[in-house]
Amino acid sequence: MRRRLIAGNWKMNGSRASLVELDAIAAAAAAAPGVDVAVCPPFTLIERAAARQPGLAIGGQDCHAAPKGAHTGCIAAAMLVEAGATMVIVGHSERRADQHETDADVKAKAEAAIAAGLIAIVCCGETQAHHRAGETEAVVSGQLRGSLPVAAGDALVVAYEPIWAIGTGLTPTAADVAAVHATIRGVLVELLGRARAEGVRILYGGSVNAANAAELLAVPDVDGALVGGASLTAEAFVPIIEAAAQ
Ligand code: PEP
Repeated sequence: MRRRLIAGNWKMNGSRASLVELDAIAAAAAAAPGVDVAVCPPFTLIERAAARQPGLAIGGQDCHAAPKGAHTGCIAAAMLVEAGATMVIVGHSERRADQHETDADVKAKAEAAIAAGLIAIVCCGETQAHHRAGETEAVVSGQLRGSLPVAAGDALVVAYEPIWAIGTGLTPTAADVAAVHATIRGVLVELLGRARAEGVRILYGGSVNAANAAELLAVPDVDGALVGGASLTAEAFVPIIEAAAQ
């Protein structure tokens, strides 16, 4: 039985003042003992976030594949751990697009994250053009074969995030989400073997909110959600945590 994970991705939003949101988020997490709740704020807030709410999982939004070195502006997985993070998002579509990260880059980052003791949330998802062309499952399978660390067990989480659903208010149908998550589970079995694949949580991400969370979380093989905009305030995020606890 996989525990549900609701993870918030603050992206490049938030300031020290925003950390007050964590108080009500942590209270909701404590009231939902069957659900893991995480918030991934900007790097500068990780240490304060972890200190403010030790009961909440705090994550980074990226890490470098190398343990240290001449990589200006980057952050190593061990630095995230030292700051108090227990997980990290890698391969988000915004980084794949903006920083031209390849599947091989994402795999190396995920391996580095897991080696440092972090849970790696590996993102995948198709463009609207791929979706319209009926290529979603082929694209996502290809991304995962290139991006997933083969030596991962419980420290691996996959987030399926259709690019056209991120920040748009659009979501795939429940049937579409079910089909893609089943395909992802199949790729995990192929890469990791059935026993380890069964332990990997698959999150759905893309315009999850209080109104649609219950329906999306009820889809078979949806083990939680990666939430962007609706994770920025407790008011928007707490109902999603509550929906996961049902
Ligand atoms: C995301 O970018 O990870 C995301 C899911 O964003 P949103 O919830 O805002 O669509």
